[in-house]
Amino acid sequence: MREGGRRRTGAALLVALAASAPASASGPASGSASMPAAARPAAKAVAAPACDTFVPALPNVSRSQCVAAQLADSGARSVRGVPLYLRDLPDAGARLRVLVTGAIHGDELSAASVALHWIGLAQHGPALPQPVHWRFVPMLNPDGLLARPPRRTNANGVDLNRNFPTPRWERDARTYWEQRTRKDPRRWPGRKPLSEPESRFLHEQMEQFRPQLIVAIHAPYGVLDFDGPSVPPSRLGRLYLDQVGIFPGSLGNYGGVHKGVPVVTIELPNAMRTPLDAEMRQMWVDLLRWMGERILPAASGAR
Ligand SMILES: [Zn+2]
Repeated sequence: MREGGRRRTGAALLVALAASAPASASGPASGSASMPAAARPAAKAVAAPACDTFVPALPNVSRSQCVAAQLADSGARSVRGVPLYLRDLPDAGARLRVLVTGAIHGDELSAASVALHWIGLAQHGPALPQPVHWRFVPMLNPDGLLARPPRRTNANGVDLNRNFPTPRWERDARTYWEQRTRKDPRRWPGRKPLSEPESRFLHEQMEQFRPQLIVAIHAPYGVLDFDGPSVPPSRLGRLYLDQVGIFPGSLGNYGGVHKGVPVVTIELPNAMRTPLDAEMRQMWVDLLRWMGERILPAASGAR
């Protein structure tokens, strides 16, 4: 379902977004790199190892920005034993829970970077008048991301975005892989749904956190996709809606079609470079505006 023409926005929301958006495009952590070490806020115990590991691999993410994201070790591990990090931003008054994932495909480095930038905006940037409980998993496939060269699949060679338990997965995922992808090794769905620790971790997040919206960041197709109920956003920044269909075992198919949770899939235009800081901020503002129009009213009606 598409509805590009209706983009009415409540005046209160616009005011709130405009008032909280600073004129400059500088990131939340800018400036801290030049501070003396003693003046910097102390990093949580887990932030430093995560940043030691990931900052050298990611485009346009400074160490101070990564440390400020305060990534926490979820306790879950990738196939190679790398922690799956998350950042939880609870709010006692939140009526809406939103899960943001980056780099489920390890060779989409910019996706992890945008998720980390957005953690900064969730803390200090433009916000909805109503509080939101955000949960970020910026690097869902660390083994693929840290491989040289980076790899789409996880360390078992599984495309994690084909490993979710959609109906008839056993029949459809293998058939799709053999016939439609011609056994593309980059798109191997695995031997069974949720065979991989990384997809199991995200599935657990969906079961426990019960997000009312999932935002999955990918690259490099330069479009927006949408699955599930609700009216999709027509654009986020320079990215426009272009619904490309569904795949057996994909997160959009599982979350959006099967579980009825709206899934916004962002395809950044470049896997190795992030959009400009101002564009990342505009995408965030447009996401919030759409959430205020379409997702919050539904979430407030039925919990
Ligand atoms: Zn992808």
